[in-house]
Amino acid sequence: MLVGGIEAGGTKFVCAVANEQLEMIEKISFPTVSPEETLKQVFAFFDQYHVAAIGIGSFGPIGVRPDQPKYGYVLSTPKKGWENFDVLGTLKSRYSIPMYWTTDVNTAAYGELKMGAAQGCSSCIYVTVGTGIGGGIIVDRQIFQGISHPEMGHFFVKRHPEDTYKGCCPYHQDCLEGLASGPSLEARTGIKGEQLTADDPIWELQAYYLAQALVAYTVIVGPEKIVLGGGVMNQDHLLQKIRRHFLKAINGYVQVPSVEEYIVRWELPNESGLIGALLLAMELTNQ
Ligand code: ADP
Ligand code: ZN
Repeated sequence: MLVGGIEAGGTKFVCAVANEQLEMIEKISFPTVSPEETLKQVFAFFDQYHVAAIGIGSFGPIGVRPDQPKYGYVLSTPKKGWENFDVLGTLKSRYSIPMYWTTDVNTAAYGELKMGAAQGCSSCIYVTVGTGIGGGIIVDRQIFQGISHPEMGHFFVKRHPEDTYKGCCPYHQDCLEGLASGPSLEARTGIKGEQLTADDPIWELQAYYLAQALVAYTVIVGPEKIVLGGGVMNQDHLLQKIRRHFLKAINGYVQVPSVEEYIVRWELPNESGLIGALLLAMELTNQ
């Protein structure tokens, strides 16, 4: 038996087919263009296989409640052609097999819980710090979902007294994403994040904001582990800075066992979303 996984990103799509041992048989990736063109490539890939189920982790926001008319749609996005596009419906019209539909960060959180940095936990939070900031919450080994999926990058943090940058979130300006995403680093310094050196003072500010987010996630959810991923977390020194700011900001109010074990980096870099999607597809075949 084979299952399929799709990581549907705003920049690129990754599709894979795996066997029951979750070994990938084939994986392809292509740029996200118009929905019609992109889905055509998805079909060309999956038409070659008989997959029993497909798991999809999509860029968002997306409709995730099956009782709502826009279930399966990409909702608001500046990406041309994708706003209000019915991704799941289009896939279902081609393959009548079970499909698991959720956000890319939710599948990543699930992948990290089952096979990555949060193995053995029953709860975790996964946060990506990349072009945007987003996260997924796992509670009792299940993806948490309420009225919609979490939007953990779009809340307001306490501004650093010396920070005058207005923020780059197109919706809120200086929410967490506006102040601490990859593009904010570039907007503040004029240098892309990957080219900034470890001794640049920007990293203390970056850690100050990300630590505040982790304090919020801790006091609101209190997961067993927080897993950090995304392009910006490729800066090796950043994790330790975040842990230091976290301990200072939480000030002993909530006891975490050990900050080194509590705040960790992803263990399936760039693959957790796809692996999570494949795992979720596999689970659909067991129902
Ligand atoms: P996306 O969020 O689009 O899926 P990424 O997680 O790779 O993709 O994030 C891209 C963002 O991360 C860009 O803003 C980029 O400048 C930044 N980035 C990528 N690598 C690094 C790095 N090594 N250090 C700091 N920032 C980085
Ligand atoms: Zn925002």
